[in-house]
Amino acid sequence: MASVIVLFSSLIIFQANNSFFDPVVPASDEIKVTLPEARIIAERLVPQGTLTQVEYEIEQNKLYVTVTFADDTEVKVNMLTGEAHIPQAPTDLLGRLTDDFDEMVGWIALLVFVLSGLLCVYVAHQTLLPISRNMQKQKEFVSGAAHELRNPLAALHARIESALRSQEPDFKKNIMEDLFSQTKHLIAVSEGLLAFEKGEHKKMHIQDCSVSESITRIKALLKYMITEKQIEVKSDIEAEMLLIDKEDLDTILYNLMHNAVKFTQNEGIITVAWKKKTLTVSDTGIGIPEKDIPYIFDRFYKVDSARGSEGSGLGLALVKEIVEKYNGKIQVVSEEGRGTVFSILF
Ligand code: ADP
Repeated sequence: MASVIVLFSSLIIFQANNSFFDPVVPASDEIKVTLPEARIIAERLVPQGTLTQVEYEIEQNKLYVTVTFADDTEVKVNMLTGEAHIPQAPTDLLGRLTDDFDEMVGWIALLVFVLSGLLCVYVAHQTLLPISRNMQKQKEFVSGAAHELRNPLAALHARIESALRSQEPDFKKNIMEDLFSQTKHLIAVSEGLLAFEKGEHKKMHIQDCSVSESITRIKALLKYMITEKQIEVKSDIEAEMLLIDKEDLDTILYNLMHNAVKFTQNEGIITVAWKKKTLTVSDTGIGIPEKDIPYIFDRFYKVDSARGSEGSGLGLALVKEIVEKYNGKIQVVSEEGRGTVFSILF
């Protein structure tokens, strides 16, 4: 498109500046006309009263009449043959108008040229914007992941070193327990990273999915934690089917239900509901502090490590990304000490 605009503008500028299509009449060309025509030309070219001088002369036995006009234009006519010699094409109003028009076209072409250049820059910028945003996102993701892995690995290294040097069995046992929880965190981070990687490259297979079947599958995966904490999981399913990729539905429910179980005390209640195009996961757990709520969907954001989570801070970011793929919206309402409700509107 840009090249077509540039070519078009260049052509107009060239045409305007070179009068490419105007006939070129040399100033001193002989124009053959008959005598009556010569008279008509003289009358038309010069308004009445501007004729200043008429001279007759004989050259090589031929009679010439030279008419001089107020603007010093001379028309020399051979009275026998009617040949007229017009030394200079008079600048009439049409000529001046044509010149003005040519100049105007030149300016318009220049304007079109500049505007099209700006348009090209704008279009190129708009096209590249999502790519550069994506690259920036990738960069942040990689640096976040590196950071997230480096710190626990450095801590592990130091702990292993002191365990190797120590002779005390109790100290060694302490360190082993510490290592156990650190590796759990590392596993969670690498699982989160893999889930993101998978989500970015996997093909969607959208179909009617049963929410209650998905809940059953996730409950089975979390069975150990649910039983250990004696948590009751209720479901409230009104509209049965949801048009979604089955894996995506499982990922959403797994992350929300896993968090609900993690952050709910023993004998708490978790409710999963699907009605009026809204999927909700609510719990009677510890809740999220108000100041953290705006950030919980950011990648690698964890509220407080002291709250006993070995998570990666990637779960909710992943859920949000999936929900947005379906043009859905995710919201959270939470109160510390009372519980949390995540709602997804599809
Ligand atoms: P993680 O894998 O660390 O749990 P998430 O992205 O899933 O990361 O969650 C981010 C943070 O939001 C968690 O660290 C946790 O503190 C908080 N959070 C998420 N869900 C709940 C919940 N149901 N109750 C209380 N806090 C929650």
